[in-house]
Amino acid sequence: MSVAAESTAPAHASVTITNLHKSYGSVEVLKGINMTVEPGQVVCLIGPSGSGKSTLLRCVNMLETPNQGHIQVANHEVTDPDVDINALRQTIGMVFQQFNLFPHLSVLENCTVAQIKVLKRDKAQARDVALKNLAKVGLADKADRFPDQLSGGQQQRVAIARALSMDPQLMLFDEPTSALDPETVGDVLAIMRELADEGMTMLVVTHEMAFARDVADRVVFMDGGVVVEEGTSDQVIGNPQQPRTQDFLSRVL
Ligand code: ADP
Ligand code: MG
Repeated sequence: MSVAAESTAPAHASVTITNLHKSYGSVEVLKGINMTVEPGQVVCLIGPSGSGKSTLLRCVNMLETPNQGHIQVANHEVTDPDVDINALRQTIGMVFQQFNLFPHLSVLENCTVAQIKVLKRDKAQARDVALKNLAKVGLADKADRFPDQLSGGQQQRVAIARALSMDPQLMLFDEPTSALDPETVGDVLAIMRELADEGMTMLVVTHEMAFARDVADRVVFMDGGVVVEEGTSDQVIGNPQQPRTQDFLSRVL
């Protein structure tokens, strides 16, 4: 990649999900989901455990194959059998509840390995990009540590830096703070807020209602594999209309 290309911020992707169905065996867990994330928007996906939130996110970057429906991410037809999976995955950064760092690699190596292997960056360039993103999450001084030497919150910040080092146009977060000690949650949410402010397109599964209320452009409430209610955070969290949404919020707020 040329220096000029690298200094240009990546465009931010849109996501369009149309009539998405996904079954495991005879159990249908997504029952016709429609959802749109505009470029630069933050959409928070909320709902009870088992409602299909993770499955939906996993369909977006092809960790799962839908049975029916259509997903488009930027110019990629995710559900086209001929989609270029590698190109698609380069567009999308994903952060999981359980960090999923490579335990045998240093923090720096965690952030460079895919840049070198997938983006074909040379080692020095990958290192520069990784250090820039580690600095962004406040962990440049931990570059030579290993994951098990870091707190959960620090590991999750490394996972975010690793995803950002691939210059994604879309970030998927699946309950990124659910496995963290309470005192480290704020640091991770602060980084996510900063990313949102920078205009990253983000689809975030979270139980952090304060984050959803402050940061989300739209909130989608899912239950039983369907979208029950969606709107602004003021609408969905502040003034929910559907009994199922009201019931869920009364338990988590
Ligand atoms: P959520 O993230 O909202 O908690 P999930 O998407 O993880 O929900 O799960 C939705 C439903 O699909 C659950 O009933 C879950 O047990 C089921 N499920 C998820 N993954 C699999 C799988 N790989 N095989 C079978 N069932 C699954
Ligand atoms: Mg889940």
